[in-house]
Amino acid sequence: MQDFLDGLVLTLSAETARGKVADYIPQLAHVDPKQFGIAVCTPDGQLYSAGHANTPFSIQSISKVFTLTIALGKMGDGIWKHVGREPSGDPFNSIVQLEHESGKPRNPFINAGAIAVVDAIMMGHEPKETLAEILNFVRFIAQDNSICFDHKVAASEMEHRDRNASLAHFMKAFGRLRHDVDKVLGTYFHQCAIAMNCEQLARAGLFLVSDGIDKATNTRVVSAQRARRINSLMMMCGHYDGSGEFAYRVGLPGKSGVGGGILAIAPGKGSIAVWSPGLDALGNSYLGTRALEQLVQKTGWSVFGH
Ligand code: GLU
Repeated sequence: MQDFLDGLVLTLSAETARGKVADYIPQLAHVDPKQFGIAVCTPDGQLYSAGHANTPFSIQSISKVFTLTIALGKMGDGIWKHVGREPSGDPFNSIVQLEHESGKPRNPFINAGAIAVVDAIMMGHEPKETLAEILNFVRFIAQDNSICFDHKVAASEMEHRDRNASLAHFMKAFGRLRHDVDKVLGTYFHQCAIAMNCEQLARAGLFLVSDGIDKATNTRVVSAQRARRINSLMMMCGHYDGSGEFAYRVGLPGKSGVGGGILAIAPGKGSIAVWSPGLDALGNSYLGTRALEQLVQKTGWSVFGH
């Protein structure tokens, strides 16, 4: 595995086509597109990594996997009153389906869906209490208390919130949000602005590899059924309107973020985090997807076999 990852970093660092760094969040536009990191964590917690695997980046929408997990823990199937579980086939920040579907977002991994999930887990709490809960959960599953919010990224998103604010106000108009829109958005932007490196992120995904158990510490994080369901949502909805393409090319449950990270889960085999800031036209890491494609070709880890 280590040799394979080292080779992958060598090949991909020579690539000139790297996609485009997200610039609608000005703070993310400064990130150097030449970076590439990858980490693989096997069920026993063994880490293999290469490239910029220790450089923190903004996990952005990958955080939606963690907030969904928290929401399921707090309210179980009750969360499905707030959000659906069908692929949207639309971009991450699309508003069109909301009008047709009475303000109920298609799934928890598009922006509208994640905003509905964070509103649901707030349950009358102040944003800082909810944020502490989210950060504690992420630190626990990553087994790393050094993980923090990048407040500059959160502030940059808040300043340029018009699109997400439109989604939130639209849902609120349908009676779908219970809290003040700016409080919900502030919480959502901080959750997206968690900074992690590939090694921490791969470690954080471990509970989804072994039926809900973190085998490195022998801790059950969620039930086997819940882990299976989260993985299936990641497979169907984790890459927005590029989810079909990602399933076709990689064949693993995965969640991308506009920071250029992807968390992919190979059930029973390993948790993989890859990061390269340049995005394809649908907002998913260009080289990150290529790296995962090569990894499944090499290992046969796709859930659909070789
Ligand atoms: N914070 C980003 C937004 O709301 C998340 C989008 C993403 O990572 O795809 O626009």
